[in-house]
Amino acid sequence: MVSFEEARTIILNNVRTVGTERIHLLEATGRVLAEDLAAPCDMPLWDNSAMDGYAVRWQDCISTPCRLRVTGYLPAGAKADGITVDAGCAVRIMTGAPTPAGCDAVVPVEETDDGRQEVTLLEPVKKGQHIRFRGEDVALGAIFVRSGTLIRPPEVNMLAGFGMALVPVFLRPTVAILSTGDELVELGRTPGPGEIVNSNTLSLAAAVKEAGCIPRIIGIACDNRESHLEKLREGLKADVLITSAGVSAGDCDLVRDILEELGAKQMFWKVGIKPGGPTAFAMYGSTPVFSLPGNPVSTMITFDEFVRPALLRMQGHQHVLRPLFKAVLREGLKKKPGKVQIVRVCLEREQGRWLASSAGNQQTAILRTLVDATAVAILPAESTGFAAGDEVDVHYYGNHIEMAPQ
Ligand code: AMP
Ligand code: MG
Repeated sequence: MVSFEEARTIILNNVRTVGTERIHLLEATGRVLAEDLAAPCDMPLWDNSAMDGYAVRWQDCISTPCRLRVTGYLPAGAKADGITVDAGCAVRIMTGAPTPAGCDAVVPVEETDDGRQEVTLLEPVKKGQHIRFRGEDVALGAIFVRSGTLIRPPEVNMLAGFGMALVPVFLRPTVAILSTGDELVELGRTPGPGEIVNSNTLSLAAAVKEAGCIPRIIGIACDNRESHLEKLREGLKADVLITSAGVSAGDCDLVRDILEELGAKQMFWKVGIKPGGPTAFAMYGSTPVFSLPGNPVSTMITFDEFVRPALLRMQGHQHVLRPLFKAVLREGLKKKPGKVQIVRVCLEREQGRWLASSAGNQQTAILRTLVDATAVAILPAESTGFAAGDEVDVHYYGNHIEMAPQ
């Protein structure tokens, strides 16, 4: 058995990005940049006004109120060629318009009498005020985004500002999903006696998509060698393979043996985590293979703790773990030492603190409490339990948390 932390380290040390592509900026949100990008020009390209107001010579306006003659007009989009601010004069200018020659300050319209022929400035003027200088945001040649940056709307805005329509990003891995078990029927069929719907394939596909990858559904392997051989072979063609069930100590738990027969190298089996103890991880060449336990709660929790960080790393993300924060327990939580315990909790905000209470029955077969949970508490392996009022680490589970009025 490996510890929770060892399992993560082994996984993250073994996964790699699978290639890069250039995609249109419109498709790039949520993807990870695959190259450092240098500014192809200064941003902004020319000095321009930060306010609607008047372009002035600062020395004309040292003592206020002062009166200047308005000799020109520069709306956004106009060219400043041939326009100059002469001594004792001002040019009416709008936000974003290039500042004219001679201008070394812009006076906002609110600090004037808004005159059109002549203008009176009411406030003292500082040199350089309200001018956005060429290259002050990003200078020509500066690296403005690094490889490994998550592309969000602000990055999109900057890339678009530089005219970069195509951006280099890491590929999204394809992730094969294989469920195993004779009791399973596919969604759409009514289960007969002893049968259940193969729900794990659907939740895994949803989680794979949410993590930014492309699910490839392989279907169901029956609990016999031939079926496992055929389906696992198919699954190993993807960039990643996830199997569910058939990985504990039952008579029909064939996944690990058959993966080994096909040439996959087992990196670990059994992790000090509850739920999710029987999780196995193997490498088939450069293809990571995650064998998750079949109970839907265990499947989803082990996906979130082990597979999701790997899928993010394979897409080039730097930060792959969900951020932990502290919550105060409303009630005590019992625990045996030895394994990290993942507890489904509901969070509330009260007097500036997060309060966590158990979402209810924590058995692995109870899915309801994972549906109800807004977060999970991570109880460290060595702990012997927590009392009401103790602080624990929690991470958000993707649910919206209702904020009580403050
Ligand atoms: P196993 O790991 O094969 O012992 O399965 C553990 C539990 O998970 C059993 O109750 C299975 O019926 C259930 N289970 C296994 N595979 C799935 C699946 N694809 N969808 C939903 N439940 C499953
Ligand atoms: Mg089974």
